[in-house]
Amino acid sequence: MNTSCRKCGSELEPIKNCLVCDQSTQFECRKCQTQTEVQIHSLCAYDKPKMSIA
Ligand SMILES: [Zn+2]
Ligand SMILES: [Zn+2]
Repeated sequence: MNTSCRKCGSELEPIKNCLVCDQSTQFECRKCQTQTEVQIHSLCAYDKPKMSIA
């Protein structure tokens, strides 16, 4: 698991957690404020406002 900033290598801080499995889904570098992409859990998928499953 990558917990270092890709730009400056500083430690990342979790800013968003998955409400279902409680794992961190997004991180932010405290040094350069770079935010990682949100990791959407396909099995949790709480983050999608409208997800229609046929
Ligand atoms: Zn950084
Ligand atoms: Zn999850």
